[in-house]
Amino acid sequence: MINEQQRALLKISPTMAEKLAKLNLKTEWDLVLHLPLRYEDETHLTPMADMRIGEQCMVAGEVIHQEVIIRNRRQLVVQLKGDGSHILFLRFIHFYPSQQKQLEVGKKVHVVGEIRSGFWGMEMIHPKVYDAQKKSLSETLTPIYPTVSGLNQSTLRRIIGSALEQIDLQDSLPETIINKLNLPSFADAVRLLHAPPPEYSQAQLNNGSFPAWQRLKFDELLAQQLSMQLARKMRVASSAIPLSGDGSLCNQLLNQLPFSLTPAQEKCYREIKNDMSQSHPMHRLLQGDVGSGKTIVATLSGLIALEAGFQVAMMAPTEILAEQHYNKLLQWLNPLNIPVVHLSGSLKKKEKEQIKQAISNGEARFIVGTHALFQDDVVFENLGLAIVDEQHRFGVAQRLALKNKGQSIHQLMMSATPIPRTLAMSFFADLDVSVIDSLPPNRSPITTRLINSVRRNEVERYVRKIVEDGRQAYWVCPLIEESETLQLKTATETFNTLQQTFPELSVGLVHGRMKPIEKAEVMNQFVSGRLSILVATTVIEVGVDVPNAALMVIEHAERMGLSQLHQLRGRIGRGGGKSTCVLMFAEPLSEIAKARLKIIYENTDGFEIARQDLNLRGPGEFLGSRQSGVPLLRFANLQEDLHLLESARNCAAQMIRENSKYIQTHLMRWLPHREEYLSV
Ligand code: ADP
Ligand code: MG
Repeated sequence: MINEQQRALLKISPTMAEKLAKLNLKTEWDLVLHLPLRYEDETHLTPMADMRIGEQCMVAGEVIHQEVIIRNRRQLVVQLKGDGSHILFLRFIHFYPSQQKQLEVGKKVHVVGEIRSGFWGMEMIHPKVYDAQKKSLSETLTPIYPTVSGLNQSTLRRIIGSALEQIDLQDSLPETIINKLNLPSFADAVRLLHAPPPEYSQAQLNNGSFPAWQRLKFDELLAQQLSMQLARKMRVASSAIPLSGDGSLCNQLLNQLPFSLTPAQEKCYREIKNDMSQSHPMHRLLQGDVGSGKTIVATLSGLIALEAGFQVAMMAPTEILAEQHYNKLLQWLNPLNIPVVHLSGSLKKKEKEQIKQAISNGEARFIVGTHALFQDDVVFENLGLAIVDEQHRFGVAQRLALKNKGQSIHQLMMSATPIPRTLAMSFFADLDVSVIDSLPPNRSPITTRLINSVRRNEVERYVRKIVEDGRQAYWVCPLIEESETLQLKTATETFNTLQQTFPELSVGLVHGRMKPIEKAEVMNQFVSGRLSILVATTVIEVGVDVPNAALMVIEHAERMGLSQLHQLRGRIGRGGGKSTCVLMFAEPLSEIAKARLKIIYENTDGFEIARQDLNLRGPGEFLGSRQSGVPLLRFANLQEDLHLLESARNCAAQMIRENSKYIQTHLMRWLPHREEYLSV
């Protein structure tokens, strides 16, 4: 909330300050940067002869008639006479006695509102009314701000107005940069946008290329770049223990694998190895499409830490995925005599305690789990490397918890969601990226088919055929965002229906509400081939690896996001032979749903899908902002303002190089409470 000193200065009562806090206005700078949604023009009067339907204007006139009538409902109707014989009707469906008084016959008033075509002629509904004697015309356009109930426009205007007056709006950009980019000064830009002179039109003021907007967007992007680049600088300056080993464990694992690494995997492994040998913490993202083989690269990286005598933690976003990693690691690392543990949510309290103890006394060396691994009560003996799978699925709080386990820990993140270039340059600027850009050999191409759900019979026949061929199938239930209970019901119903449809086949069910141990049991049955069909909610989206699964049916694919569909589809095509993904949809389809299905049907490249997804939905999805509260950009748009982003990046680098005195001023202004978040 706005502090006491500022409240006194700006004459804000404590209740008002609470209201402002609801709008996220917590510092005087937040007020300065709270910009209007639109403007009203009270700078001149429109003669009644020039009133146009649909236009917003201010009109002067004398009240010649006032009446409360009942037409469907009770309402106040007032006739206003302007110059000549022109009449304007004013209509109020909600009104107070004070308004009736203000509009008594004979009063001269100014009214502001939109002209509509009414029952008796031109009218305004609920206009703003001013006493013509008291009100002089405004000199600037009147800003209309986003607000909350209980905080009216005129109060907000007064508060913001006094913030603009009282606060030192000195520039936070070096003069050389302002000149080079030909931007208005900060003070000019905000004053103009809060109170534009009447010669500016709405269209100009709403256009992002308006110089004042360009200035604000630039400042916003600059703040982001500064905080990112400073975070990077701090990381590089902080120290971590260089981890390098003799290669003994890595070589043993490589020798024992049934495949050899692809050149892309080798390259990424080399990059990670090099990072880990540095004396500052690694912060690297291993990016690769679903099925590209990130797990083995991460495991090898873990072995480097083990060779150097340190522990490794691998964090997965779901219990199912943690279980899968655990099983894979047991298979790979048991022959090497490496103690692998899984701190699973399904363990009994006592077992958990035992595992935690093994983690803290160093008996456990390779530790797998969900974000529970980074709770306060888990103490590592000597953690050297933290691996975070599907990092975009974790919220900011969880990433912070990890960071708090030790600044000096090397971090390897993994993600199947490629980061488009603009995001890589902005939100992920403090992340080095390694890309596995080709899939392992012997991957069968996946055929995607779009099938209307009325043709469900055909799909069922196809499932039967796949199973007769000795393969397995996933059947994914529709996503029901509104209600988890409903989702569960749908999954159970689908499961029952499919059991009846395929009485001769073994069908399993896995959903998010099952206990981890039950989930793991069902997954194991599917992995080992005891189940032919696995009915699942979207819990299988991430990371599950069953090479024999050759078919995936997705019901109501139109409800799912693109990256989600792509992730799901990536669960098949992992063994030899042909694989098919059937996207069932139900009519009618919205335009956006059609666009999505078309993209997923036409593209198999995760990067291209992500790029198109970004276009359709904006960057929020990528950043997981809905769950995590990462502040998105308020003014700048990464698509449209790429040139500004590029200049901001260079400018930030220059300011940091020159140790500019403006850095702190600028960050305080733009990121007063958010700095910490931006650097995770
Ligand atoms: P993702 O990148 O989606 O996490 P995984 O690491 O689960 O992919 O790998 C998918 C499958 O490919 C696994 O069964 C894995 O063992 C296998 N795999 C990984 N690398 C190779 C390779 N170089 N050659 C053949 N198979 C591989
Ligand atoms: Mg994976």
